[in-house]
Amino acid sequence: MSLNNLTITKALECLDKKEFSSVELTQECQKAMDAHKDLNCFITDTPERALNDAKASDERRATGKSIGKLDGIPMAIKDLFCTKGIQTTAGSNILKGFVPEYESTVTQKMWDAGAVCLGKVSCDEFAMGSANITSAYGDVINPWKHKNDPSKKLVPGGSSGGSSAAVAAGLCLGATGTDTGGSIRQPAALTGICGVKPTYGRASRWGTVAFASSLDQAGVFARSVSDCALFLETICGHDEKDSTSANMNVPEWSKMITGDVQKDIKGMKIGIPKEYKIDGIRPETQKIWDQGVAWLKEQGAQIVDISLPHTQYALPAYYILAPAEASSNLARYDGLRYGYRAPDPKNLDDMYERTRGTGFGEEVKARIMVGTYVLSAGYYDAYYIKAQRLRRLIYNDFVNAFKQCDAILTPATPGAAFSKDEKSKDPLDMYLEDVFTVSANIAGIPGMSVPAGLTDNGLPLGLQILGAHWDE
Ligand code: GLN
Repeated sequence: MSLNNLTITKALECLDKKEFSSVELTQECQKAMDAHKDLNCFITDTPERALNDAKASDERRATGKSIGKLDGIPMAIKDLFCTKGIQTTAGSNILKGFVPEYESTVTQKMWDAGAVCLGKVSCDEFAMGSANITSAYGDVINPWKHKNDPSKKLVPGGSSGGSSAAVAAGLCLGATGTDTGGSIRQPAALTGICGVKPTYGRASRWGTVAFASSLDQAGVFARSVSDCALFLETICGHDEKDSTSANMNVPEWSKMITGDVQKDIKGMKIGIPKEYKIDGIRPETQKIWDQGVAWLKEQGAQIVDISLPHTQYALPAYYILAPAEASSNLARYDGLRYGYRAPDPKNLDDMYERTRGTGFGEEVKARIMVGTYVLSAGYYDAYYIKAQRLRRLIYNDFVNAFKQCDAILTPATPGAAFSKDEKSKDPLDMYLEDVFTVSANIAGIPGMSVPAGLTDNGLPLGLQILGAHWDE
């Protein structure tokens, strides 16, 4: 197997045994990045920084200095995390040329653990989307091909589509993502890799470009569950710079995976929510879900039927709460402080209007309009307050469900990867992609997507595992 396709766990083992160096591993990733430019994963690559990081890691290993948990591992960063001295765009024109003076807590923790920075990967603009087709830097392409129509370009999911495609194509060994309504779990499923969104408050949001602050959570993509565990424990932890960061110990999840599947699963109670058996679910998705249930039973899990009665309100509540918070968060992009400013303004109003009018893309502008509408004096009670009430009911659904089971198993997405024109005509079609994922953000619980099988067309499908708060 080529070095760039190794798991993080395996690569660390080989680096420790000096079977290859971090410089060699990094160069293999960079070759793959060059060979797969057609996927359009990276907005900014940082080749010199990567080689310097790798050399420093090799020196640490050679001189017996202390070695971090990700020492020498080449990683990609979603372009939503601020990186000191490296352009950070959030996939938007309005942040073109913005070079932060500071480093996000999540990425700082990665560099402290010895990770190698390959560069910044694309995402939907301000993380709004489910297909990575709203980025101002072009669409990202899924490395998977439809068996009967291999020339058809498929989406990698979104909003963290650059991260998922880069990991799936072997351009890096892991990548960061953010998940506000499914943006880690959905692209992980569509590209056949693992992705975890931890409990809200586990990973610091400091230095991450905000979309909807009460829902946003950083997380990880990798090619195995063990890799995700190791990577996640590296980026989580209390941060006094984020007032919503929880002061909780971070368990060493990577040590909890014994390698003996039966031992790990036996006796666990797995909940199957009846409300997730929706009409729009494809037969092949249902089949994969049934197979997942059967497999868990074989490993000794007990399957329990559960109910999450307010499920049908999750998507509407999300599409009120997320735009409301986004409209407020995005008010800061005024042409004065960050990145782009429209040229030759006639006066201050003209500068604001044209900067925001031309700096933001269509999806972002639509969400700002919805957000300001639901927050306006006349409609606040009818929409925003109602959605907040629903939020509490959805939260209670999960708290009650986890009295009956240890984890919940559902599909991650209604179907497999699709082409851009299949879903971009009707925004509601695209919003339905999140039907299984948004509830976890609304309730703040952790969720993961794991590869679970292929469709008849040879495309990956993922299953989602949801846990109780702090029970990653
Ligand atoms: N697809 C959802 C949206 O468009 C979720 C995005 C996300 O999790 N960042 O809002």
